[in-house]
Amino acid sequence: MQKLHYEKVKESISGRAQLVVVTKKRSDEEVMAFYDCGERLFGENKAQDLIAKAKRFPEDIQWQFIGHLQRNKVKQVVPYVSRIQSLDSAELAKEIEKACAKADKVMPCLAEFHLALNDTNKTGLSADDASGFIRDMAQYPHIQIEGIMVMGPHTEDEQEIRAVFAEAEQLFKSLQKEFGSDRIRILSMGMSDDYQLALENGSNMVRIGTYLFE
Ligand SMILES: *Cc1c(COP(=O)(O)O)cnc(C)c1O
Repeated sequence: MQKLHYEKVKESISGRAQLVVVTKKRSDEEVMAFYDCGERLFGENKAQDLIAKAKRFPEDIQWQFIGHLQRNKVKQVVPYVSRIQSLDSAELAKEIEKACAKADKVMPCLAEFHLALNDTNKTGLSADDASGFIRDMAQYPHIQIEGIMVMGPHTEDEQEIRAVFAEAEQLFKSLQKEFGSDRIRILSMGMSDDYQLALENGSNMVRIGTYLFE
């Protein structure tokens, strides 16, 4: 744990955002140091790794699935995950509904949007039909859409990152207006390199790995 970095993040998010500690590829000891500091939201982007960690870690951890979720992995992760932040297609939603109906569990989900223009990472929904997608989810009683997740573009260009985050904030606000801010309440945005910019643009949940550990 990088104590100074952790303190800096805690200070930045204080009163405005929740922290998801991204634990991918970290040892149990490294992860537990954050648990011992009181952190309970941990994020993983691989189904196998999330399941393995969830099985050996304390039960009050709320595991967040943050990576691209393959449809054939949904059934396995459902029992262990507290929120799927990467709902990025109608097909995946269908699969989540099926698995959660069977498990008798309502899954909190964030719709993941792809807003970066020049980016090879193409997972994520298009913003063009954001409201249509969320309206569509009403047909699934076992999916609860709580907000949106957005990744910043892979670039050093601060203006470009700001532009994407500003667009995300606009999208978030317009969805809140349409569906109610009690329902659409999470804007998950910001990682090690760009969390400050994300906070300036209304993020209320940051997902940070590298900066906290290294
Ligand atoms: C890895 C990852 C993060 C954390 O990235 P860092 O740069 O290590 O802070 C956040 N969100 C997602 C979706 C990730 O895959």
